[in-house]
Amino acid sequence: METTTRTPAPVPGGLRPVEVRVPGRPLARFAEVLEPAGFERCRAALREAAEQLRGRVVWHVNSTARGGGVAEMMGPLIGYARDGGADMRWMVVQGTPGFFTVTKRIHNMLHADSGDGGELGPAERALYEGVMWDNAVELSALVRPRDVVVLHDPQTAGLIPLLRRRRARLVWRCHIGYEDLRDPRVARAWDFLAPYVRAADATVFSRAAYVPDCCSGAPVHIIAPSIDPFSPKNQELSPAAAQAILARTGIVEGAPDDAPPVYLREDGAPGRVDRGADILHVGRAPRWDTPLIVQVSRWDRLKDHLGVMAGFARLGPINGTRLVLAGPAVTGVADDPEGPAVLAELTDAWRALPHETRHHVQIVSLPVVDAQENAAMVNALQRHATIVVQKSLKEGFGLTVTEAMWKGRPVVASAVGGIVDQIDDGRDGVLLGDPSDPAELASALRGLLDAPERADALGGAAHERVRSRMLIIRQLVEDARLLGTLG
Ligand code: UDP
Repeated sequence: METTTRTPAPVPGGLRPVEVRVPGRPLARFAEVLEPAGFERCRAALREAAEQLRGRVVWHVNSTARGGGVAEMMGPLIGYARDGGADMRWMVVQGTPGFFTVTKRIHNMLHADSGDGGELGPAERALYEGVMWDNAVELSALVRPRDVVVLHDPQTAGLIPLLRRRRARLVWRCHIGYEDLRDPRVARAWDFLAPYVRAADATVFSRAAYVPDCCSGAPVHIIAPSIDPFSPKNQELSPAAAQAILARTGIVEGAPDDAPPVYLREDGAPGRVDRGADILHVGRAPRWDTPLIVQVSRWDRLKDHLGVMAGFARLGPINGTRLVLAGPAVTGVADDPEGPAVLAELTDAWRALPHETRHHVQIVSLPVVDAQENAAMVNALQRHATIVVQKSLKEGFGLTVTEAMWKGRPVVASAVGGIVDQIDDGRDGVLLGDPSDPAELASALRGLLDAPERADALGGAAHERVRSRMLIIRQLVEDARLLGTLG
């Protein structure tokens, strides 16, 4: 069975959350990537947690079923926990365009970015609370006393006080943040959220540096995100399969050995990449063996696509190396209203490049109709890349960095947010000290292009770091411990 969304009949005047059905995923797979003793310890911890939770449901609630790091993690987290015997479910709140404009503003301000420059005043609060109220009606009917509700990010924080009377355990998990909590934009966003998040029984952050004062009244847990090594996004793909997938999407020209563009879907059934990407480029696609520098991100200004292009343009002689900036087709990510404008700005900047540089830059919108097919495309791109870049100006954690490291790629990434928890500069990747400096990016890229053995060594160390510390089974165990503290 595959992950499917089930939309209840619309209710006049109300927004109802949608359940995403998540099939179980076999935990036993982790025996392939962990040492036997470590694997057994994890399994025992998860069995114990499932026993403690018998008869209770753990509800995860977020705001989108696809696109972005949180949606990415939800399927595996819930799927493996279900296989471990826990009744875990996923609900996606529904919002209006106005609601997502406000929540995007909060998101940007929590990253010390003014975003659209709008207010977070009484009108925004009323709009936000109205949408939360609508969604709470259906959730309140489902949640039983002693169930656990894990609400993710600002888009769901307003549900916390509304669900209090259900006598469930309420956990708020914040996946984003910024180190300077005194920045006026950051402080303003936390003022907005404080009345809601104060009502939680516990909060979870990816990094200790992100925890605001308003969360100090209840236990705070620090749990870093992780990746599923068996998902279509991260599973092993042969170089021939990766090239075939990229050829099918139109990103490279067909490889000589005619492999099929196939991968394994989440339920273990065969999958095939059928759709093409929307690609902005001049002339023919690069040959399959052309070196590619790749950044995969949502179309968000904080991912600084313009800066990546500016750094690439300064690279000097590149022997045909191409830059690929890839992201989701912009109609695909419902809670990210700025995507189309950011992609349009990038397109304008691409048109303004000198012809020779433009010839070496592709802007790729990956189809998102089938999330697993999209994931297979990202997997193929990251595996095929000569270097993976993540030149974010701000970053909560940066799962794309983890993903590329798992694939043994040399990664060049900004020393911001959670990226500094993932890469030790010069050991398992290269950190950019000044994320806004295109010259620093150009010189880091040059260094790796000129020293392929060094690039390989960084990639090998990166893979080992993710294997030992950043796989999802570690996060499942930490989540289980947290649930055990809630009573
Ligand atoms: N992603 C994707 N398809 C795309 C672009 C991004 O699946 O076209 C995924 C990417 O692989 C990663 C997630 O979206 O798993 C982005 O997470 P990250 O933590 O890097 O950044 P966020 O989007 O949460 O700010």
